[in-house]
Amino acid sequence: MSWTLMLHGGAGQMTPATLTPAQVEGATEALGRALDAGAAVLAGDGSALDAVEAAVRVLEDDPHFNSGRGAALTHDGIAELDAAIMDGRDRNAGSVAGVTATRHPVSLARAVMAHSPHVLLSGAGADTFAREQGCEAATQDWLVLPERRAQLEEMLAGGGAFDVDMKYGTVGAVACDSHGHVAAATSTGGVTGKRWGRIGDSPLIGAGTYADDRAGAVSCTGSGEFFIRVGVAHEICARARIGGMPVTEAARAVLDEVRAMGGTGGVIVAAPDGTAAWHFTTPGLYRARLSSEGGREIGVFGESPGAA
Ligand code: ASP
Repeated sequence: MSWTLMLHGGAGQMTPATLTPAQVEGATEALGRALDAGAAVLAGDGSALDAVEAAVRVLEDDPHFNSGRGAALTHDGIAELDAAIMDGRDRNAGSVAGVTATRHPVSLARAVMAHSPHVLLSGAGADTFAREQGCEAATQDWLVLPERRAQLEEMLAGGGAFDVDMKYGTVGAVACDSHGHVAAATSTGGVTGKRWGRIGDSPLIGAGTYADDRAGAVSCTGSGEFFIRVGVAHEICARARIGGMPVTEAARAVLDEVRAMGGTGGVIVAAPDGTAAWHFTTPGLYRARLSSEGGREIGVFGESPGAA
């Protein structure tokens, strides 16, 4: 039985000129570990849902990415985390926004899905629910890294405009398991310098994250405000399900629409037919792919689109 797994670690202005070899190596190594964690689930006949959660947890702990530890900071210097997870079998979903005291927002999103009557919890209430559910706590001291503080200070010194061109991004995973079921998960700190309880596309079901066995699973990264307005993840699935478009084509068409409105970013897509693809309109996208047939691939720069 075949399976596919695809990850992203954010879209942005990554080029060989803007990243050091050590940054590329560190991020590549972490993507490899996340791929292994998800692949172990899928190879053991586990579900796509378990696989995407396992992979995202690895990236949340890794400081190279804007999620969990190492998240981008708000205007006030706080790590406020957003995450979502969705199961393509029944379109069950859970998400959290503005979490400040939980180590793995993706697992908290899963707990919201599995153990609450709600889909989206936010702020202090979400952290309270995390403790009730036994999700591991994290302090701001642990979540906030000096590089992120420096990035915020640089941004504030430059006048405080939103930094949507982050070098390190949001993380996400999509998978199709050996039973043909898909799932998606996304986790992020959002954008540097965000204010007023800003929430991006990542935790919004249909915008940054979506999964439906009738179409595919999608996780997004990029300028969230545009992704929300286009409803990118659901729009890609709708074009596949209703319009009969291959998901790869749908991904390209929808990102073109986002670009026409002024937004850029990337998506990863997994479909029940075994398609695993990415598409991005930024100079780079941290990405990784593996399937039961092999084809292990990890990339950072250029070469969009990619499909298998
Ligand atoms: N889409 C994320 C947000 O707007 C940021 C990113 O993907 O880099 O919160």
